[in-house]
Amino acid sequence: MFKTTKRIIDWCGPYKKRLYLGFVCAFFATWFGAAPTMVAAYTLGKAIESARTGSPFDTSLIVLSFAAIIVLVLLRFLFSYWRAKLQESIGYELAAEQRIKIGDILKRVSLGYFQENSAGDILSTVTTELSSLEYQGMRMINEVVNGYINVVAIILCLGFFSIPAALVALAGVLLSLLFLHGVSLQSEKNAPVNEKAVEDMSGATIEYVRGLPIVKSFGQEGASIASMKKAVNDSKNINIKIEKGFTPFNCLHLFSLKLASVGLVLVTAWMTLGGQMELPIMLMFCMFSFTIFGSVEAVNDSAHVLGVIDSAMDKLEEVEKAVYIDEGGSDIMLASHDIEFQHVSFGYEVSPQGREGALEHDKREVLHDVSFIIPQNTTTAIVGPSGSGKSTLCNLIARFYDVNSGEIKIGGRNVKDFTCDSLLRNISMVFQNVYLFHDTVKNNIRFGNPNATDEQIIEAAKKARCHDFIMSLPDGYDTMVGEGGSSLSGGEKQRISIARAILKDAPIVILDEATASIDPENEHLIQEAISTLTQGKTIITIAHRLATIQNADKILVVDGGGIAQQGTHKELMSQEGVYKRFIEIREKAEGWSIG
Ligand code: ATP
Repeated sequence: MFKTTKRIIDWCGPYKKRLYLGFVCAFFATWFGAAPTMVAAYTLGKAIESARTGSPFDTSLIVLSFAAIIVLVLLRFLFSYWRAKLQESIGYELAAEQRIKIGDILKRVSLGYFQENSAGDILSTVTTELSSLEYQGMRMINEVVNGYINVVAIILCLGFFSIPAALVALAGVLLSLLFLHGVSLQSEKNAPVNEKAVEDMSGATIEYVRGLPIVKSFGQEGASIASMKKAVNDSKNINIKIEKGFTPFNCLHLFSLKLASVGLVLVTAWMTLGGQMELPIMLMFCMFSFTIFGSVEAVNDSAHVLGVIDSAMDKLEEVEKAVYIDEGGSDIMLASHDIEFQHVSFGYEVSPQGREGALEHDKREVLHDVSFIIPQNTTTAIVGPSGSGKSTLCNLIARFYDVNSGEIKIGGRNVKDFTCDSLLRNISMVFQNVYLFHDTVKNNIRFGNPNATDEQIIEAAKKARCHDFIMSLPDGYDTMVGEGGSSLSGGEKQRISIARAILKDAPIVILDEATASIDPENEHLIQEAISTLTQGKTIITIAHRLATIQNADKILVVDGGGIAQQGTHKELMSQEGVYKRFIEIREKAEGWSIG
């Protein structure tokens, strides 16, 4: 238990000073909390003694005691207030900082990280795990550290009046600690099981919500609701089992403290009867006996969550250990933007299926020994069969993944030399599946350049041919876009993403031409928007339209893990090969032919 407490204290890092000052305040708050009982017991004892012996009782003692009690109570509240002020907000402040830090870390890891760590995993670290630290971490510090500071302070106080009585109290505390250790062990054992259940539940819920359109369109519940129900039931059953495991230790912990309270009354009564203790002191002990352990009686509730906190901290440490893809990179300003692939080989890391916890990863090579040059300010069309590696090529330019061998250079500099921010400053990407944030249309466009003015945003939207439809929305540019852009059509989303890219004004534009059926009107607008975006830039486009392919300065034909052919449309059409066959098929599909 104290190991986890120390971990939480260490986690507090820059806030440690506040934490320690809080402990000092807690110590004084306890003393000032105990002192009124002592004063009252002393005065009461004096009154009883004078009544018993018939000696005169100094009534000014009552006034004096009353005044002292008021001052002591005020001091106690003052120190309690300072303690709370110093310690209570630390958890919230730290958790907020940690969430932002995780956001930054996730931005700088390879996309492969998200294959090894599921969305459910990451979500539960940022929400559940950090929330348990945020709420329970500081609560535990308060209950465990401040709780034991309270008890130790009072036992020291009691020891000043009677060593045997203090020893009885100490024995009760030590015995209770033994049972508390049982609670901690149970908690440590159960936490990973509980955590896995929460993760499974988050993962199954995400999967269910994401799959809802399919579930609805097929008019059936599907496997996703079944796995969500199973995950929810598993989590419930695990929680009930865990709670049952704690019960005996909880009861024994409380029992040992109550036993010590009774022992304290018996010992002091026996000592008073034997003439070894004065009546006022005995009264004081009796008054204390049932409140002395109050601060640690609820510690077992905190011990319940010890394992949860421990494993939350393990998870956080794991996320923090994630390797930045741009570790050691520099902020590079480029003078030119030629793109060069030199003997690049790459394969995605695939975790072995069905071998849970397996450490090795298989690497299936997608690209093998690929070399080509894309001169700056030219348009390059990438064509090839589905799954041949066209998107992979683009992802490697943006360094979403690292190559396994070879080099990718932009403007003569290896992409590994850049920080992610400085590399991506040079690249705008327009994907087929556009993701819009649950924010206003204006802010979604502003994402391309956070410093853009409203006028610049409107200008970009006009160039991207989306101004008119934005103005027809209920709140114009201030209309909220549904999560992922769910309230807009595919074509509208794509034009907003082009406006974003226009606003970014990066020298390299990577485009994934839409294959999904978009109506001719929308397609025409998108083409107009794209030609505005790409003026004077280095363009790499995963091309599907014959017009785009035909007009490109260079065509890269990706097939069989490499560049099967490269050249202009004219050059490639004069050769027998994949390209010519591909074009013939495309021509048939589009119903027209290129001259
Ligand atoms: P399409 O035209 O259908 O979009 P593509 O030519 O763009 O296909 P890529 O998406 O680059 O092809 O995929 C190349 C190969 O890599 C495919 O076999 C695909 O299954 C695999 N692949 C793509 N992304 C991943 C990933 N994240 N993890 C593992 N394998 C992947």
